[in-house]
Amino acid sequence: MSLRFGLQARFLVAMGITLAVVFALIAVLLQRQTMMQREVDVLGREAMQSMAADALNRRGEAMVEQLADSLTNPLYFSDLDAIGTTVRAAARQPDVAYVLVYDAHGNIVHDGSYDIAAYGQPMTDPLAHAAISSNRLLTQWSQQVVDVSEGISIGNERIGGVRVGYSLAEIRASEERAANNLNNRLVELGRRHMGWIVLLLAALAAVCVGIAWYAQRTLVKPIRQLAEAAHAIGVGNYDAKQLSSDRQDEVGDLVRAFSSMNDSIARHDRDVRRMAYTDALTGLTNRLAFRESLDHRLMMLRGAGRQLALLFADIDDFKRVNDTLGHEAGDDVLVQFANRIRDAVERMGGDDSLLARFGGDEFVILIQNGDVRAVATQLAEALVKELGQPLVVEGRQVFLGTSIGITLFPEDASGATSLMKNGDIAMYQAKVAGKNCYRFYSRAMDQAVERRVHMEQELRGAWERGELSLVYQPIFRLMDQRIVGAEALLRWQHPEMGAVAPSVFIDVAEQSGLIESIGPRVLRAACAAAAHWTAHNDSEEAPFVAVNVSPRQLRSGDLPEEVASSLRDTGLPASRLHLELTETAVIGDEAHASALLAKLHRTGVKVWLDDFGTGFSGLSHLRRVPVDGVKIDRSFIADMQRDPDDLALTTAIIAMAHSLGITVVAEGVEKEAQFDILRDRGCDLAQGYWLGHPMSAAEFAHLLI
Ligand code: C2E
Ligand code: MG
Ligand code: MG
Repeated sequence: MSLRFGLQARFLVAMGITLAVVFALIAVLLQRQTMMQREVDVLGREAMQSMAADALNRRGEAMVEQLADSLTNPLYFSDLDAIGTTVRAAARQPDVAYVLVYDAHGNIVHDGSYDIAAYGQPMTDPLAHAAISSNRLLTQWSQQVVDVSEGISIGNERIGGVRVGYSLAEIRASEERAANNLNNRLVELGRRHMGWIVLLLAALAAVCVGIAWYAQRTLVKPIRQLAEAAHAIGVGNYDAKQLSSDRQDEVGDLVRAFSSMNDSIARHDRDVRRMAYTDALTGLTNRLAFRESLDHRLMMLRGAGRQLALLFADIDDFKRVNDTLGHEAGDDVLVQFANRIRDAVERMGGDDSLLARFGGDEFVILIQNGDVRAVATQLAEALVKELGQPLVVEGRQVFLGTSIGITLFPEDASGATSLMKNGDIAMYQAKVAGKNCYRFYSRAMDQAVERRVHMEQELRGAWERGELSLVYQPIFRLMDQRIVGAEALLRWQHPEMGAVAPSVFIDVAEQSGLIESIGPRVLRAACAAAAHWTAHNDSEEAPFVAVNVSPRQLRSGDLPEEVASSLRDTGLPASRLHLELTETAVIGDEAHASALLAKLHRTGVKVWLDDFGTGFSGLSHLRRVPVDGVKIDRSFIADMQRDPDDLALTTAIIAMAHSLGITVVAEGVEKEAQFDILRDRGCDLAQGYWLGHPMSAAEFAHLLI
C-alpha cells in the first residue's frame, strides 16, 4: 500500500511547521533574554562599582583634606593627643580600615591606637611609597582598600602626611548583594516570561488542534465522504450512501450538488439499463440481459446438481407476415405472440422462469423449477397449441405456427454459448421436421447441421458436375384427360448422398443464394427440352413446360431477360412456357411484382401461382395480381374427401378463378376419386401420381407419341 499525502496530513504538517517555527522563535527569544540578563548583570555591577568608587573618592578626598588641615598644627607640634583624637574620630567613620599619620620621612606618627605600637616605624605596604612621594591629594586602589593620602606642609616644608584606607570588602559585599538582588529579579522575570510563553504555546497548540479538528470535521471528512461516494458511483453503486447536508456554505452546496448529480446519474443508469436490457417492442428481457442472467444462473447451478432447460421458439414463416402484410402488422404479431408466450410461461414455467426475445421472431424461455424436462415438454406442447390459434391482425385472421427447440443443462452442454447453439439447432430441426412442433436437442442434430453445411458445399458446382437434372411431371386436362404440358422438377443425384429430396436441397439453395445461378439453368434446360415436344395433332398446340421460379430469382429482377434469352436461344414459343411463382414471392411486394408480371406477360409467357391456399393472399387477392393460373396446393386436394372445408375452399377457388378468367390446376392428385371430384367442379388441369409420376425428358417425349 502506498502512503498518501492527503489533505489531513498536509494540514497536520502545516500545523507542525507553524508550531516548530513558533518554538524556534521562542527559543531565540529566550536565548536573547538570557544574554540580556547576563549583560544587565555585568553592566549593573560596573555601574554600581563606578558609583561606589565615585562616592568613595569624593568622601575620601573630602575627609583627607579636612584631616590634613586639622592635623597640620598638631603634627608640627608633635601633639600626639590631639592627633590621636582626630585620627580616632576619623577611624570611626564607616568603612574606614585605617588612618595613618606619618612624618616627613614616611615613618608612622599615629595610627589611632592608644599605645601607637607602630610609632616611628616606616610604612612598608605597597601603596606607601606613592603616598609619601606625592605632595597632593592622591587616591590609590588596591584589591582590598582605597587609599586616599595627602601630604601635610607648612609653607613649603613638608612635615608629613595623612593616609586614610577605606576597606573595599564591605563595599564589594554590598555591591555583590545588590547585583545578586538584581540577578534574582531578572531570573524571576525570566521565569515569569517563560511561564507566559509556555501558556502561550499551550494556547497556540490548542488553537492548532482546534483548527485541525475543525478542518477535519468541516472539510476533510465531507471531502472524504464525497470521494467515497464518487468511488461508489464509479463502480455503479448509486445508493451506497445517502448524501445530504444542512450546511449553508460551499461544502454544503457541493454535497447537495453531488447528491443531485448522483440521483441523476442513477436515474440515467436505470434508463440506460432498462433500454439496454429490455426489448423495446415487447418489453421482454432482451438477448443481452438474458445472456447475463443465464451465465449467472449456470454459475450458481454448476456443482449443485440442478437442472435447467432452454426453449427456443421461432415463429414459422414470420417473414411472410412482414412481406405480405407489412412491418407494422409484423410488430403486432410479435407483440401478440409475446403476450401469449408470457401467459403460458407465467402459468407453467415456475417462479424462476425467464422469458426473452432474441430479436426477430425468436423467443427464449428458461426453466429452472421442478423436473425441467417434464415442465419444458408441457410448456412446449402448450405453446405449439396456443400459438397455432389464429391471430387477428389488421382485421384479418392470420395462421402461424411455432417451432421450438429444447436443450437441457447439464445433459446437453455446460456452457451458455453451447447451450444456446444447441437450442438453435434443436429449433432448426423442429422446422426441418415440418414446423409447428418441438424437438429436444440430441447429438445427432449436430450432425444434421453439419450435413446441411456439407450439402451447401456440395451443391456448389453440382450442375457443372452433371449431378443436377430435370424430370417432368405430366399435367393433364381434366375434361378429356389428355396431356397438355409438364412441370419441370429439379433432381439431385449426389455420388455419396444419393438422391437428395428437392424440399431439402431447394431450401439450401434458396437460403445460400445458389438458386440464383441454378434457376436460370433450369429455365434454359426446360425450354430446350420442351422445344422438342410435339402436339398430338395439328389442331392442338404442343405441350407447355411449367418451370418453378424461386422468390429470390424474382427479386433479383433479371427474370424477364433470362426468360427472353432462353426462349430466343431454344426457339420455344413463349406461349409454351409457364412460370410457377409462389404466392409469397408475388404478394410480398405487389407493386414490384405487378410490374414484373406485366413485363413477363408482354413476352407472351404465362404465370401461375404455385401452392395456392397456403399463404395469405386469399381469394380477393387474385383480382389485383395479373396471373394466368393458380395451382391449388396438394394439401387441400389430399383432404378434400375427408374435410368439407377443404372441398368448399377448392370449389370456391375454382369458381372465383373462373370468374376472373384464370386457369385452375390441381396438384397432388393421387386417387381417381379426387380426379372425379375436381372434374365435376370444373377444374381445368391436374397433375399427380395417379396421373403420372415425374419422369425423364426422354420418357415424357415418348409418352407424347
Ligand atoms: P411444387 O412446385 O409444388 O412441385 C410439386 C411437388 O409435388 C413435386 O415435388 C412433385 O414431385 C410433388 N408431387 C406431384 N404429384 C404428387 C402426388 O400425387 N403426391 C405427392 N405427395 N406429391 C406429388 P418435388 O419434386 O419433391 O418438389 C418439391 C418442391 O421443390 C416443388 O414443389 C417446388 O416448389 C420445388 N422445386 C422443384 N424443382 C424446382 C426448381 O427447378 N426450381 C425451384 N425454384 N423450385 C423447385
Ligand atoms: Mg411447382
Ligand atoms: Mg406446388
